[in-house]
Amino acid sequence: HDLKKGELVVFPTETVYGLGANALNPKAVEKIFKAKGRPKDNPLIVHIAQKKDVKKFAKKIPAVAKKLMRRFCPGPLTLLLQKTIRVPAVVTAGLPTVAIRMPSHPIARSLIQLAGVPIAAPSANIAGKPSPTHAVHAFEDLVGKATWIIDSGSAWSGVESTILDVTHDPPLLLRPGAVTKEQIEKVIGRVD
Ligand code: AMP
Ligand code: MG
Repeated sequence: HDLKKGELVVFPTETVYGLGANALNPKAVEKIFKAKGRPKDNPLIVHIAQKKDVKKFAKKIPAVAKKLMRRFCPGPLTLLLQKTIRVPAVVTAGLPTVAIRMPSHPIARSLIQLAGVPIAAPSANIAGKPSPTHAVHAFEDLVGKATWIIDSGSAWSGVESTILDVTHDPPLLLRPGAVTKEQIEKVIGRVD
């Protein structure tokens, strides 16, 4: 309820702890940038709980994206797609594309589902500091800024999600991460 209302929540994912806000509420998303001291030109990843929600936030889903979602979704793969007007500009730093991911961590997924809104979330640390793999690290950076900190022990991997731009052909690997280039190429062929 607090998330939907516009407050910040720290939550675990299978990669690192995230600092989440209602992705559809620009004022809530602005709080993330303020809390982290994150530059406004650094776009956020939108986290969803169900595959079918991709359609709400991405204009078209290329065949390669569908194949990758079948194989790696839920999981630590973030796809860059053309955004719909539902995604506020503050989330994507004014870009026409949006980064979308469906986490596999059960608490992350329950939280998104219960909130009833997609959650924009970068890592739960002050900009420039390491991404937290324990709630206590997030607490040190964000106490007094996030309304809730959900402690579920260690995040599973500590390795961030892989970011792949599927608006390009061949797709572009923007950030290496938990899903490797080789794993992706096995499913869709060449990636640059
Ligand atoms: P973080 O949430 O800290 O892992 O950061 C997310 C990263 O995703 C950003 O720093 C960008 O590198 C990348 N990203 C998110 N959205 C976009 C986008 N629309 N275009 C390009 N890169 C993006
Ligand atoms: Mg980060």
